[in-house]
Amino acid sequence: MKHLSAPWRDKYFDMKQSGCIFCKAAKAKKDAENLVVLRGAKCFMMLNLFPYTNAHVMVAPYRHTGDVTMLSAPEAAEMAVMVSKAVSAMKKLFHCEGFNIGVNQGAAAGAGFTAHTHTHVVGRWKGDTNFMTTLAATRVAPSSPQKIYRMLKKELA
Ligand SMILES: [Zn+2]
Repeated sequence: MKHLSAPWRDKYFDMKQSGCIFCKAAKAKKDAENLVVLRGAKCFMMLNLFPYTNAHVMVAPYRHTGDVTMLSAPEAAEMAVMVSKAVSAMKKLFHCEGFNIGVNQGAAAGAGFTAHTHTHVVGRWKGDTNFMTTLAATRVAPSSPQKIYRMLKKELA
């Protein structure tokens, strides 16, 4: 992916320098601030601060590992359950018509954060390069990460 010269990308690169965002979010008691929408026994779910679409969450284990083969069976199982919950919630809230679900492991695979494995769940719509039109048509129109956070948190509760 090419570097895009946009202010939020600069912030993204700043954050990459300042430690593991997943461990920070997992350990902090500031779920609203960190956009952590769901906590389980082994894994948690948070909104992507730099989403591909407005419906983009990440599911990660609490434990710091950058390798899916290092996940325990309970961690992998809970990750799968949370991915499923994310899909259900996003279908209902945002009327997603499809999903990209996956792990980018290692920089060669395009992972932004290589140190802490996480599964992306990205809601998609037919012709969703025109995401705002889709939203306008369905009148969901979440305008900010905070609003999406509140909607998802309520749905997942
Ligand atoms: Zn970590």
